[in-house]
Amino acid sequence: MVERRVTRQLMVGKVPVGGGAPVSIQSMTTTKTSDVEGTLTQIYALAATGADIVRCTCNEEEAAEGLARIVPRSPVPIVADIHFQYRLALAALEAGVQALRLNPGNIRNPQHIKTVATEARERNVPIRIGVNAGSLDPDMAAKHGGITPEALVASAMHELSLFEEVGFDDVKISVKASNVALMIESYRLLSATTDHPLHLGVTEAGPPPQGLIKGTAGIGTLLAEGIGDTIRYSLTADPVEEAKAGRTLLEAMGLRERKGLDLIACPSCGRAEVDVIRVASEAQAALEARNIPLQVAVMGCVVNGPGEAREADLGIAAGRGKGHLFVRGKVVRVVPEAEMVGALVREAELIVAEGIEARLAAADENAEAIAAATREELLQIQGTDANHSEERVERIRDIAG
Ligand code: SF4
Repeated sequence: MVERRVTRQLMVGKVPVGGGAPVSIQSMTTTKTSDVEGTLTQIYALAATGADIVRCTCNEEEAAEGLARIVPRSPVPIVADIHFQYRLALAALEAGVQALRLNPGNIRNPQHIKTVATEARERNVPIRIGVNAGSLDPDMAAKHGGITPEALVASAMHELSLFEEVGFDDVKISVKASNVALMIESYRLLSATTDHPLHLGVTEAGPPPQGLIKGTAGIGTLLAEGIGDTIRYSLTADPVEEAKAGRTLLEAMGLRERKGLDLIACPSCGRAEVDVIRVASEAQAALEARNIPLQVAVMGCVVNGPGEAREADLGIAAGRGKGHLFVRGKVVRVVPEAEMVGALVREAELIVAEGIEARLAAADENAEAIAAATREELLQIQGTDANHSEERVERIRDIAG
């Protein structure tokens, strides 16, 4: 496990950020903030998916008024996103938001920046300095030879120095870019420059799957180096997908406790006794609908399935028209193939209710023997070269020789 870089801690409402706190997940609403009910519906959906903090745009007076009505009813802290008009930052503070995000590229008047920081200090509200490569202050770019990591970090540090002039340092920082390599280098430099908590993100990453890949490449690389205290995927998609991606990444990296399903499935091969893609997607839909917080495996054959997925809490492997249900690698029940998904879901519910040990104790005592016999039978039929690799090698030798 990589050691996380030590940062100071701040509080976004009740959510601690930095200073050893769990890495938090953020997303942003796509509704008009003046649409109070619509925005709250989205905030609730995001919170249910795992978002710890939600950002809403505060781009007009009606949005600030909306925030005044949203904040008291929100299940998670709200960050107001401010662009260009510093007065809207003051209005958002009056609305009671738990944090602000300021973009140094588009509020450049030092007096305006200091006025906002003073008000935030008075109200004990943290600010994220959110530098964005796409809207970097042109003076910074000119001074640092273009849109470089040095220019992005200098922009953040300049904003921080203005805050410090009025005695405000309740700050987290982001230096986002849509170019993943630039984003990674910028955060590495930022992390070496300051101990303020860092908010990670690849901005304008686009729709999934490309957006997910770019976000994961950037955020995951930095987290693996111990850098980052809070994260946001920026996807051109329903924001619930952003929260889901954030949650999945943190759970996969062991940075957050698993709250949802982790479905693993083999890629399938010549040994597969079932349509793995179909069974996996049916199982995923049924288990997600029940919010099962387990690691569940769908494996194409009983020859290798239970062994390869022995770390999973629960799994199913196919063999000769049957589903072999296994718990932590031990086959506990054999069911007809048509009942595979149903049996998997039932067992998952029983594990959640009774625990792993109880379900291992309740195993059908013949199941392991049936699985061993089926494994043997399949090996007899398929041989050890089920993917016909060795046959192909022979043929290649004939052709090439
Ligand atoms: S050997 Fe079995 S479990 Fe492994 S990929 Fe092939 S079908 Fe899946």
